[in-house]
Amino acid sequence: MLFGRNASFRGMHETTRVLRDLVAIPSLNPMGRDLSGPEVFEYRLTDYLEEYFRTLQVQFVRQSIAPLRDNIVAFHEPQAATSTLIFEVHQDTVPVDQMKIDPYAAVIENGRLYGRGACDVKGGMAAMLSAFSRLVRERISHTRVVLACCVDEEFTFLGVQRLVKDDLRGATPGPIQAIVAEPTELDIVHAHKGAVRWHLSTSGRSCHSSRPDQGINAIYHMAELIPLIERFARELSQKRTDALLGPATLSVGRIFGGTSVNTVPDHCQIEIDRRTLPGEEIASIPKELREYLETHAPKEIDFRLSEPWLSCPALSPIGSDELIGALGRAIDSVKSQHRVVAVPYGTDASTLAQAGIPSVVFGPGNIAQAHTCDEWIELAQVEAASEILYRLVRDNERI
Ligand SMILES: [Zn+2]
Repeated sequence: MLFGRNASFRGMHETTRVLRDLVAIPSLNPMGRDLSGPEVFEYRLTDYLEEYFRTLQVQFVRQSIAPLRDNIVAFHEPQAATSTLIFEVHQDTVPVDQMKIDPYAAVIENGRLYGRGACDVKGGMAAMLSAFSRLVRERISHTRVVLACCVDEEFTFLGVQRLVKDDLRGATPGPIQAIVAEPTELDIVHAHKGAVRWHLSTSGRSCHSSRPDQGINAIYHMAELIPLIERFARELSQKRTDALLGPATLSVGRIFGGTSVNTVPDHCQIEIDRRTLPGEEIASIPKELREYLETHAPKEIDFRLSEPWLSCPALSPIGSDELIGALGRAIDSVKSQHRVVAVPYGTDASTLAQAGIPSVVFGPGNIAQAHTCDEWIELAQVEAASEILYRLVRDNERI
């Protein structure tokens, strides 16, 4: 437990009530699969958030990203504000196949709330919503707070990529910084790896399998490339490493090829996942592998690399010292200690940081419970997160 039995904070009940609502509203990201139905996409949650902001009587905008998928961004705009703080959180969750509990019942048991998204990241969203609404109601005047609820964090980061196209500073002078909600157990994440994903395919010539000598087998060609890719990955991890984040990595995750057992295949494709370090240029990532294969693969192998279909930069701690200090003090005032850590998974924070907005990741819940078959979050942590976010703004003139 984070607090004594009798401790309570204003906003506590609202946070839990809002979290129950958020979990009960499906907002599944199909993640490239052909899923359909009322649970798919974020629009029902976006409508709930719109109603929430309307009731709170704050300005908001919806940014259309794709059919049934809108970011919604709300503004606390005090006239005297001298800085901007962004609360950023994603609306989507991963799908619910394999779940062993009702994903939308939002059952509360032993201080935990269960359901899809409870931990990743509707707990963080509830904390941000209730902190934001307290700041609005109490007319905190020195900081402009932008609450950005983005779509598609779990798959291709489309929401945050659209968000940073606007000038998020508005007319407010002074610094602009961002807190991105993800389950960090109320610690501060100041660095993470990035990710780039693309396809690599080999081409051949198909023919009947009774005369394989007349064709060119694209699967055999891929089979020759894969050990080279494995060697490239090993060498990459040995030579490129970061003190906080460890080595850059590359992994082959999927393979497809052929149409039937009695046809020599003319096509084979793999999916490649490359985890990047701060300072690595996204555009040069697939090129490095291509050049390695051009040097080492047999000349007769015809291969092609696609453009990346996902790219998320790495998050560097450079520039976020002030925010880390202020957030650390707010955490310590509620739970007496915190850690500042680097993590291996990607978040929306790096896209904000790349747009010139110092950003850190913070939220309730443990990443180990994210995406699980019985996803849950400890309610005391959600309430503490809300209190911390509220105090961060209340107690810092230039945050
Ligand atoms: Zn998340």
